Amino acid sequence: MDAALGPPEKLATRADELTPMLSQYFELCTEYEDSLVLFQVGDFYEAFCEAAERVSRLCEITLTKREDSTGEYPMAGIPVDNAESYIETLLDAGYRVAVADQVQDPDEATGVVDRAVTRIVTPGTLTEDELLRTDDNNFVACLARDGDRFGLALLDVSTGDCFVTSTADESALADELGRFAPAEAVVGPDAPTAPFDSDCMVTPHDTAAFEGENARELVASYFGDPETVLAGDCEVRACGALLDYAEYTRGSEGDDAAGERGRLDYLNHVTRYDPREYLLLDRVALDSLELFDRRAIHGRAAATVVEVLDETACALGSRELKDWLRRPLIERGRIEARHDAVGELAADVRTRERLHEQLRDVYDVERLISRVSRARANARDLRSLKDTLDVVPEVEAALEGAQCDALREIRDDLDDLGEIRDLIGRAIRDEPPIEVTEGGVIAAGYDDRLDDLRETERDGKAWIDSLEETERERTGIDSLKVGHNAVHGYYIEVTNPNLDAVPDDYTRRQTLKNAERFYTPELKAREDEIIQAEQRADDLEYDLFREVRDTVAAESERVQALADTLARLDVLVSFATVAAEYDYARPTIVDEPKRTAIEGGRHPVVERTQSSFVPNDADLDAESFFAVITGPNMSGKSTYMRQVALIQLLAQAGSFVPAADARLSLVDRVFTRVGASDDIAGGKSTFMVEMTELAEILENATDRSLILLDEVGRGTSTTDGLAIARAVTEHVHDEIGARTLFATHHHELTATAEALPAAFNCHFSAEQDGQTVSFDHEIRQGPAAASYGVQVARESGVPDTVVDRSRELLDAHDQENSSYEGVNSHEGNNTRNGQSTAAASNDAETGSDGDASTDENELATIIREQNLATTTPMDALALLQDLQERIEE
Ligand code: ADP
Repeated sequence: MDAALGPPEKLATRADELTPMLSQYFELCTEYEDSLVLFQVGDFYEAFCEAAERVSRLCEITLTKREDSTGEYPMAGIPVDNAESYIETLLDAGYRVAVADQVQDPDEATGVVDRAVTRIVTPGTLTEDELLRTDDNNFVACLARDGDRFGLALLDVSTGDCFVTSTADESALADELGRFAPAEAVVGPDAPTAPFDSDCMVTPHDTAAFEGENARELVASYFGDPETVLAGDCEVRACGALLDYAEYTRGSEGDDAAGERGRLDYLNHVTRYDPREYLLLDRVALDSLELFDRRAIHGRAAATVVEVLDETACALGSRELKDWLRRPLIERGRIEARHDAVGELAADVRTRERLHEQLRDVYDVERLISRVSRARANARDLRSLKDTLDVVPEVEAALEGAQCDALREIRDDLDDLGEIRDLIGRAIRDEPPIEVTEGGVIAAGYDDRLDDLRETERDGKAWIDSLEETERERTGIDSLKVGHNAVHGYYIEVTNPNLDAVPDDYTRRQTLKNAERFYTPELKAREDEIIQAEQRADDLEYDLFREVRDTVAAESERVQALADTLARLDVLVSFATVAAEYDYARPTIVDEPKRTAIEGGRHPVVERTQSSFVPNDADLDAESFFAVITGPNMSGKSTYMRQVALIQLLAQAGSFVPAADARLSLVDRVFTRVGASDDIAGGKSTFMVEMTELAEILENATDRSLILLDEVGRGTSTTDGLAIARAVTEHVHDEIGARTLFATHHHELTATAEALPAAFNCHFSAEQDGQTVSFDHEIRQGPAAASYGVQVARESGVPDTVVDRSRELLDAHDQENSSYEGVNSHEGNNTRNGQSTAAASNDAETGSDGDASTDENELATIIREQNLATTTPMDALALLQDLQERIEE
């Protein structure tokens, strides 16, 4: 990505001698040096020189050239009418695009036409419907630093959603960025660049915008006193700089813009929050629970959690649902209020379905009102707003009998903006055209002046309609015709044989092969009258339309509040629909510490994507909160762990849960270390990623957290891995005391679990039937049988001698393992059920200390000294090749 372009060199070297037009282009490129400038020339947006070459390559359009007296310049143009799809390509390639429009009528220009950048399109500040996903927010983030505190502001320019928070903890900062997944991050002086996702564009912005005084003023002009709406200098600076950047990208857009920098008038509310007010989910957790994105590994996820939960009826609700899942609550009262509403709607099919139908008629008024405020909305948008407002009283009626607080609150919050609805209803025609300057927009009866003009127009046209008849009578020419064409206007047409009968007041307008066309002074006068009336009416309509639009814009805050209320309702209805259709249960929130009591829990996605699903229980409490889960691959361990976490998360988001029953105490955070998320592209080894994630968990988890660990210590040697797994288990158990589910293939860990008072074993098993292994996916108490693999080997026909030897080695291993108990400081039941610990016979083969040659020692040293923590998969391959070469020498 090479976003910084600067002005083309070729132009820079000849800056003095350029033609006025190219000189104007050059200046705009200099002013907007970090953007690719698209420069309107008539029906095309042109780029020149280096920029032309890139646009041509990326957008696959022909590279042409412009020739003038000063030379030849490469040029590439994209059609103005169809620019958005090309702009999207340029954005995807990592560019910001500055759109320079002609802001002067070319006919009125003396010399070169005035052009101005009317908008800068960047990934984080999009408002073009064509470029946005309707069902998700699109955030731009801004970071400012104040000592060791970071202020973080987030804004969705298309909807006006604005959030601000701050933290002194860089990992908490990364978590927030993970949650909101901004498409772009604006950074100021000494802000960190580290915690951004790789597909987030990092945009440095004017240092002055981050300065305290400037930021304070801008924040105050949008949201009121910064001291009351925000907390601390770094928040004000982040928020101020973000507003500044958003205005900068708005340019001077809108169909009635006066060329000044765009204020975002619809932005009038900021949500200041503390990350600790929500259940914390970092990027790793969001990813591994497959909440919003499918993970590539195992190719397993057929759907995401949000996909199976989304029964919302409108775009507002669909976005709100994601917000609720991204930020589940930690306040019991608020959570239970949502559960009450879901319960009430789940039990009442009629109301639920009625609301769902009504909400389907709700437009994306959040984005619509932002277009209204930016003077980019057309008459159809206003009609759509009215259609939505029409629904409001119906929704209110449907909620009439609402019992619970949450639904009553929604009912009371509903605001049908009666006067706005009436205004649009009276002023705007039913099916107006997209163009707002060519008439046909304002309804009859709304404005007397307009009605008069339209009447003049109609009278004139009626007179003309009757003209044919009158003139035929007057002249006696039966074939006389009255017509109209775009070039010559109205005419009276007489065929050549009848030309003798033409009266004196006819003036010739046009000669055809077989006829002549005429006009009369009266026809001309009427025609002028019609044209004038039409022109004045169109202009008046546009003025009236803008008045209406401005009146609506002045109520943007109320429209946004309405959007928010409808969005909440839509999510609750969606939760209720899922609960009723898929047999979810209302979770009970309890105050007992570390309580997770799930009966018949299911994984919300897996249960939908396969024909049968085996429900499982979970039972954790203060005395017994650490589960070590063993069992063969594919037996269901990770599905089980995720379902426990998802049930917790859904409950705290306010949803019912896929289980027969669930009693849960709240958690402050869900941590996951699941699966081998090998970041090969990022150049990190599996082990390194694993340890980084682990360190994060150990540092931040509390006794109110829920931790999922899957196969910790797999990326290194067995001894190493086991040691780490044991140490982690002890630490989490003794020091942190967090509810934990730990799936492992280290069978030795089951002994550790038995040794720790609040840890316990459970397992999944497999059955062998002839050649096939089958799983019953049922969780059971106690550890899995260690000899599982050996049994499978025997049943699969591996020779007895090999099987016996395997068992011998396994027993020896157990023996070795029991030494752990000797150094274990914990009291507990250390025997492993049903496991033989018979001493192993001599097993010289297991050691490698034979009479190895010096060569082998050398190889061993190389391997031993390799630091696996920093070895990437590519390094490992290179090392292997090196070793191979040494052996062959
Ligand atoms: P493991 O983590 O033990 O390797 P998984 O949890 O990945 O196993 O499960 C493997 C597959 O088994 C899943 O993809 C799913 O299709 C199926 N499965 C898991 N749990 C269940 C269950 N409770 N009921 C039915 N099928 C299940």
